[in-house]
Amino acid sequence: MHELFPEVSKVTSDVTGATPRGPWSDVSDDKWNDWRWQQQNRLRSAQDFDALGGHFELSDGERHAISATADAFRMGITPYYATLMDRSDPQCPVRQQAIPHPDELNPSPVDLRDPLGEERHMTVPGITHRYPDRVLFYVTHHCPVYCRHCTRKRKVSDPTSAAAKAQIATGLDYIRSHPEVRDVLVSGGDPMTLSDARLDTLLGAIRAIPHVEIIRLCTRNPVTLPQRFSDATIAMLKRHQPVLVHTHFNHPGECTPEAARCLRRLADGGLSVANQMVLLKGVNDDADVVRATNHWLLRQRCRPYYLFQADLAEGISHFRTTVAAGLDIIRALRGHTSGMAVPHYVIDGPGGGGKIPLVPEYIIEQDDERIVFRNWAGEIYEYPAR
Ligand code: SF4
Repeated sequence: MHELFPEVSKVTSDVTGATPRGPWSDVSDDKWNDWRWQQQNRLRSAQDFDALGGHFELSDGERHAISATADAFRMGITPYYATLMDRSDPQCPVRQQAIPHPDELNPSPVDLRDPLGEERHMTVPGITHRYPDRVLFYVTHHCPVYCRHCTRKRKVSDPTSAAAKAQIATGLDYIRSHPEVRDVLVSGGDPMTLSDARLDTLLGAIRAIPHVEIIRLCTRNPVTLPQRFSDATIAMLKRHQPVLVHTHFNHPGECTPEAARCLRRLADGGLSVANQMVLLKGVNDDADVVRATNHWLLRQRCRPYYLFQADLAEGISHFRTTVAAGLDIIRALRGHTSGMAVPHYVIDGPGGGGKIPLVPEYIIEQDDERIVFRNWAGEIYEYPAR
């Protein structure tokens, strides 16, 4: 059966087995699968790595960057996500996303503290209302893993930017008093760091607002802490449907059996899941890497939605590619694989311009009579202009 239908074997193998636990091999299943244990045992310092019996080797540059960035944007890595990292190679695509790099300390002249102008579009504390019919609701500054390429590193991980109860109440009042808001993006930080009880209350309050049609839950937990989505959690989310989950896989190294089971449980629970990948130099600036990740996502019923050009956040210039590199990736995917595996490539207009789609040029020439195109394979076609 598997010889005749190799895809069957591939689909099964996505979800079978478990990622080796490395230095945590003695930890019980109960603890390992407990998201709170994962949170409590995050790696936060070079000493935390050293305490793992030499399993991980940190470079001198990483050690320096870990301590030098601790005040500005701290390190936090769940044991689960750490098991996806190479033990010694700082170039590992997963490791680069989690361990501070010395280049974070060398901001580029074009860097912006608030690259998307979110504070400028903040109508009340915690609510960014940039587009006509939707708002971004900042509900926590915590994340299981602090991604080194985070666009909100100016506030994420910083306790002084915590969303207090009064701020959440003000945000809810704002949404209630703006009937044009039909779509609420619950974000942070990662809202799945809140307890189920707090999330239930928050989502229930949003769902009770008659003009809110959809709730989007922006979370990287399927990538960094898939243990977070228990059956009880999924049942709770389901009570507030329609809830659309937006997650953030960047590389096949993150595509584990645990993550596959998490995504499938979310889909089986009736939740629609989409992926927002960020294009990162040295991580996924390669069409084969993007294709492999997106094929895996589709097998778990997660739609590859966006490919974001890395923005101008401070200290992430070492991750930025050219726009031409992103267009090359889209050109290598479009037509060469299922359209569902080709994300929208977008750039967020620096300073708050919103998402601008970037598309390879397929029109060669046009006049009043005809438009001449190049198709995905480079063949030329004509279509009447009117
Ligand atoms: S999970 Fe999202 S908000 Fe948190 S650090 Fe990563 S990119 Fe930033």
